[in-house]
Amino acid sequence: MRILFASSEAHPLIKTGGLADVSGSLPAALAALGHDVRLILPAYPAVRRQGRWQPLNTPAIDGAPTGTKLLSGTLPGTRLRVYLVDAPPYFERAGDPYRAPDGRDWQDNHLRFGLFGRVIAALGLNQAGLRWRPDVVHCNDWQTGLVPALLQGHPERPATVFTIHNLAYQGLFPAETLQALDLPEALWRPEALEFYGQLSFIKGGLVFADRITTVSPTYAREIRTPRFGYGLDGLLEHRAAVLSGILNGIDDDIWNPHGDRHLPASCDPTEVAARRRCRAQLCATVGLDDAPDAPPLLGHIGRLVEQKGTDLILAALEPLLAQGRVRAVILGSGERRFEQALTAMAGRHPERLAVRVGYDETLAHHIEAGADAFLMPSRFEPCGLNQMYSLRYGTPPLAHRTGGLADTVVDASPDNLAAGIANGFLFDTPSVKAFEHGLGRLLELWGTPAWETLIRVGTQTDFSWTHSAQQYSNLYKSISYQGH
Ligand code: ADP
Repeated sequence: MRILFASSEAHPLIKTGGLADVSGSLPAALAALGHDVRLILPAYPAVRRQGRWQPLNTPAIDGAPTGTKLLSGTLPGTRLRVYLVDAPPYFERAGDPYRAPDGRDWQDNHLRFGLFGRVIAALGLNQAGLRWRPDVVHCNDWQTGLVPALLQGHPERPATVFTIHNLAYQGLFPAETLQALDLPEALWRPEALEFYGQLSFIKGGLVFADRITTVSPTYAREIRTPRFGYGLDGLLEHRAAVLSGILNGIDDDIWNPHGDRHLPASCDPTEVAARRRCRAQLCATVGLDDAPDAPPLLGHIGRLVEQKGTDLILAALEPLLAQGRVRAVILGSGERRFEQALTAMAGRHPERLAVRVGYDETLAHHIEAGADAFLMPSRFEPCGLNQMYSLRYGTPPLAHRTGGLADTVVDASPDNLAAGIANGFLFDTPSVKAFEHGLGRLLELWGTPAWETLIRVGTQTDFSWTHSAQQYSNLYKSISYQGH
């Protein structure tokens, strides 16, 4: 089948989070199943600098400024076809895909991703000069949410799939956006794009896509409840028959301890000596001592925001660091208050805590390989990738039982340990007390034979894309021949 995979980021071209990991590896896994998959992204400067991009003969596209054109190339290291939407006034800027260098959202994100949606829809209808018509357009997150809304009603339209990677980001803009984007008046109603007086990009996907997926079965259930639904739970409940959860895989070429190009040597995580070597390297990199009798080294990587439970990490680690019961390495960036509080905590415990504010892919790999355990106290987590990387690298995770964390981490309860299925630790409520209790259980098991069992079970779990790609493939087949 011909599949157009639309996303606002894809590793290794451009990445701010898990969406890039998925968009950089799922299309290739689908291609390996025999599908003709093509990826479409905005032509950010960082992307244009990588690889060779050929301008295509692009006709005028409805709703897009004159001069908008498509560039064609491949995803580095693969033969996967990539189209870039080249619209310099919108995408040729410093900063990340969504924010200016000062960290604030671009003020014209509605225009930028409105245009992106227009071009994707034109491609879907074979009106972008490509002579290639997709059977399915697979949209991801709010930046592509308008596409199913723009395509609905066209007699020759492709089938549409919309994947929610994080429902907390919805693309909400003032009502005037409807006119600014020249969208039909008919879309301005609560059953379409209107959301309490604002225009919601994500609703385009949730209301109009033929199928909705999200990135774990548990999150697919959670978002139908008020606690996780952000006011969209009613709509998602209404569409429950076409909503499903498909767990993300991980890219074995990038996240594989046996031959990780960010690490100096291949590492077998089931060997204590190899793990010690990785830990020593990590400690040397971040300037911590690594005495043989040192307490366990905890790792954390992620966006420093409320969702990820940074406040829980701050509160729970302080006493443990003061008592000399743990050491920790934390890598992340996000809200200034969290960055400052973590840096201050490192100042109070310089021998036991290293904090790196920023984005550092190599250090992320060193932490996965070198930490003794990994912390993921996310309040909600659609899928989460770092816990899967941790399991693969022999770094048992301690996580809140929610979303994809609940679907991938098996708690070290006595029963699960006895059954040989435990691979980490879960706690049930996102509170300091519950997280501390989880940390206590982790510290009790560390250094016992059961710890080695956890690692073995974790490293043996199959998180490759093959299984998930097959599920997407089945989903595409179930909708594409129904006629729309
Ligand atoms: P989310 O998409 O919500 O940010 P995920 O766990 O799904 O969370 O994916 C986050 C991805 O981004 C992972 O690959 C993680 O390693 C990476 N990442 C997050 N913050 C950093 C950072 N500061 N430096 C390097 N990699 C990071």
